[in-house]
Amino acid sequence: MDAADFKDFSKAMSDYIVEYMTNIRDRQVVPSVKPGYLRPLVPEQAPEKPEPWTAVMADIERVVMSGVTHWQSPRFHAYFPTAHSYPSIVADMLSDAIACIGFTWIASPACTELEVVMLDWLGQMIGLPESFLARSGGEAGGVIQGTASEATLVALLGAKSRAMHRVKQEHPEWTDYEILSKLVGYCNKQAHSSVERAGLLGGVQLRALKPDGKRKLRGEILQEAIEEDIRKGMIPFFVVATLGTTSSCAFDALDEIGDVCNEKNIWLHVDAAYAGSSFICPEYRYLMKGVEKADSFNFNPHKWLLVNFDCSAMWLKEPRWIVDAFNVDPLYLKHDMQGMAPDYRHWQIPLGRRFRSLKLWFVLRLYGVENLQKYIRKHIELAHLFEKLCTSDERFELYEEVTMGLVCFRLKGNNEINEELLKRINGRGKIHLVPSKIDDVYFLRLAICSPFSEESDIHISWEEVKAAADEVTKATQK
Ligand code: PLP
Repeated sequence: MDAADFKDFSKAMSDYIVEYMTNIRDRQVVPSVKPGYLRPLVPEQAPEKPEPWTAVMADIERVVMSGVTHWQSPRFHAYFPTAHSYPSIVADMLSDAIACIGFTWIASPACTELEVVMLDWLGQMIGLPESFLARSGGEAGGVIQGTASEATLVALLGAKSRAMHRVKQEHPEWTDYEILSKLVGYCNKQAHSSVERAGLLGGVQLRALKPDGKRKLRGEILQEAIEEDIRKGMIPFFVVATLGTTSSCAFDALDEIGDVCNEKNIWLHVDAAYAGSSFICPEYRYLMKGVEKADSFNFNPHKWLLVNFDCSAMWLKEPRWIVDAFNVDPLYLKHDMQGMAPDYRHWQIPLGRRFRSLKLWFVLRLYGVENLQKYIRKHIELAHLFEKLCTSDERFELYEEVTMGLVCFRLKGNNEINEELLKRINGRGKIHLVPSKIDDVYFLRLAICSPFSEESDIHISWEEVKAAADEVTKATQK
């Protein structure tokens, strides 16, 4: 493809994207294709001769869009949002054009330096203490990971190396294997599955603790578990506090947990994957009270801050526990400026990394903090609108208090009628929701996901839920 063709192709694609986004709510949110739908739509082999770009454009609707689930549609209420915005798409175009791999500072200085500064901007926006920020002048700072799951694993590995170092000094006679077998970490039973996975990948035990009646992990619960384990000769070393659980968007008592961790010298990691974006609004920062007691903090601008996947922001107060502990330094990666700026390859699992801070820079500049705050507040208002509609119908009850853009609700009654309700809602094909279950109570989750959602869309979603509930009521009365 030559430059002239690229101009035409990219112009045609940007026109297509605008048309797609503008009319997205008219598309069926989940496609009705069956597994294997795509193979018959494309040739068995790659073409020998080049095709014109117009042929590719002509196949997008037929081959791709016929099987796309439209996550940006206002009818999509499943999981948590995944972010999307025009500035972010344009930034990714530039990132793809530069196509550098910023594993060290010298590999592309702008790639590292913009990331350092953007993570400082973002950290200030959510009210993180200076002790997490690079601008404080110490070793602390932020890094963009691909996902919250990677951030949790990186934090666990940091905690593990810090604990190993400490215990080896106290007990030089113990072998690495002996120490490792005693290490134990903790999280809320409602923590994301990636926390359990981090334990498996890191080769350490993780205990999932039963939270209180409001699904919060409390300081007292944690303290009790830690003391029980110490009595058994174990070494508590790592805690994950979740701010905004996946199943119901509950918030652990960070302040209390922080006290326990600080007293016992335990690494505290905060997973605020979804809800963290809301902290750009000062009125939600009460939910992160105690954050100064944490060692690492992570949230996903790629969920709720209009930055396209992947952009998971992580801050570490003492990155040395990762940077030094997993340092392999082949000659081909060394450079003369080592130590004068972060070499991000040491802060993450893979070596390669894209120029992801461009997305943050474009989004933060083209929206401004003010519009991003409006965006978060609007989603939360829309969730409260659905909550109001739902609670005004006496057949329904809420499962969890609505604090963010997620409404957890159910029909009063048993799990079976709620399973039937979800089947009918999704079966009607207009909107899409997923369920959750806590302590054997099945409920439905309605997340506000789309950047295009308006009040009228929420009314449409509510009408769909109500119509499905009418069907369930009728069917159960027969
Ligand atoms: N933590 C929480 C609380 C989440 O809700 C999620 C995903 O929804 C994750 C972690 C995993 O996020 P990622 O896909 O970025 O690994």
